[in-house]
Amino acid sequence: MSEREGLYKLTILQAGELLDRHEVASVDLANACLNRIEKKNKEINAFITVDKEAALESAAAADKRIKSGKRLGVLDGVPLGIKDVLSQKGVRTTAGSRILENYISPFDATVVSVLKKAGAVILGKTNMDEFAMGSSTESSYFGPTKNPWDLERVPGGSSGGSAAAVAADMCLGALGSDTGGSIRQPAAYCGIVGLKPTYGAVSRYGLLAMASSLDQVGPMTKDVADAEIIFSIISGKDSMDSTSSNYEYKKLDGDNLVENLKGKKIGIPKEFFGLGLKDNVRKAVENAINDFKKAGAEIIDISLPHTSYALATYYIIMPAEVSSNLARFDGIRYGLSEEGRNLIDGYLETRAKGFGNEVKRRIMLGTYVLSAGYYDAYYKKAQKVRTLVKADYDRAWEKVDVLLTPVTPSLPFKIGEKTSDPLTMYLEDVMTVPINIAGVPALVMPCGMSNGLPVGLQLIGKSFEENKIFQIAKGYEMLRGKIGGE
Ligand code: GLN
Repeated sequence: MSEREGLYKLTILQAGELLDRHEVASVDLANACLNRIEKKNKEINAFITVDKEAALESAAAADKRIKSGKRLGVLDGVPLGIKDVLSQKGVRTTAGSRILENYISPFDATVVSVLKKAGAVILGKTNMDEFAMGSSTESSYFGPTKNPWDLERVPGGSSGGSAAAVAADMCLGALGSDTGGSIRQPAAYCGIVGLKPTYGAVSRYGLLAMASSLDQVGPMTKDVADAEIIFSIISGKDSMDSTSSNYEYKKLDGDNLVENLKGKKIGIPKEFFGLGLKDNVRKAVENAINDFKKAGAEIIDISLPHTSYALATYYIIMPAEVSSNLARFDGIRYGLSEEGRNLIDGYLETRAKGFGNEVKRRIMLGTYVLSAGYYDAYYKKAQKVRTLVKADYDRAWEKVDVLLTPVTPSLPFKIGEKTSDPLTMYLEDVMTVPINIAGVPALVMPCGMSNGLPVGLQLIGKSFEENKIFQIAKGYEMLRGKIGGE
């Protein structure tokens, strides 16, 4: 392997330093990743669409800027992947669904246009569970993505394509979306870093909505510093998304210092260590807790008493919003269009053919919990429980800086293992959905290996305190040394 080809292994920060010093060109970085995709994508299936020409064109433009001393910033010239749930102008945007198989978006999602403005080189769109519904990327119309650590296993989902692409060095970083764990669970399964930002920290404009009160876009990267770089660029107010907050990211001092762990109050919510947690995952997370302790952090036992209700709450609120958001796919405005004998028949034909089983299941569940006679018993009640779950977290911040938990109950499972039983698939989300229900930010990072597979841990913080999470995560990363992506 020539030195140029190995460029795909770089982190965003490392690549940026080489670009700044004119030691490497953006076109070289893009080519290294594109070659890697060509070599690996057949078996891993991380990308649905690769836009080679556009990528090389924007890399050449970045090189021109850099040559004349006008590099736009840390992302200028850096090759990234984008989950195919984000609209990109002139590019096929499928959400992993047959109904959008040939849909070309006429506009850029705000996060995409922000990345473009920052000079990022977009390589293509990554695979995902259909409309982000799933925990394994098996419900994609474009076939499952494989876990780069073990091709017989799932990469997690729904942002499995982005996670696998980053873990297999097909891009330097990627965007994912997280409604109930879709950034964090695949990040854990692929041994990378992923952040689900505070609700409202990042614009959702142009994100194909799954459940609008829970959805957030976030970074998936090889290390914590890279996640912070992408987050600092994509976060902030957007006039196109009324739920986006006036918020400017402020990085805390003391990069990568183990010293930063000293005196930090790390809460360990006992409820997260039940929930079907397997011994191998428990062991890795407990080792991490010990490491934090040794580095001078204060470990505090804490209770989030409504945790066990979060999953049930999620599987009422989320489908309710799904059923409403997906009503727009009617065969007239977007994508697949089947002719029927009349208008209604046309809708039915299109949706019957265009949506997969999991999507249909959730639309039916959602319309049921919203229907007259059931609304009070299900939807309204779930909203009340949501308030209780959120209050658990509000109370926690009086005692701790961050909470530390496992991400998933077990290690990455085999492809096909859970597809016939949706309920076991839903249980994958038991440690990630409470965070979306509460609206708070959470970062997932590698904390060890078990049977040759990565294990992650989750650091949960107070709303809009991503900077504190990053500071602690960088300290821990420094402490244990990084797990490579190979
Ligand atoms: N796995 C969860 C679900 O299927 C989360 C999905 C997501 O975060 N988009 O709902």
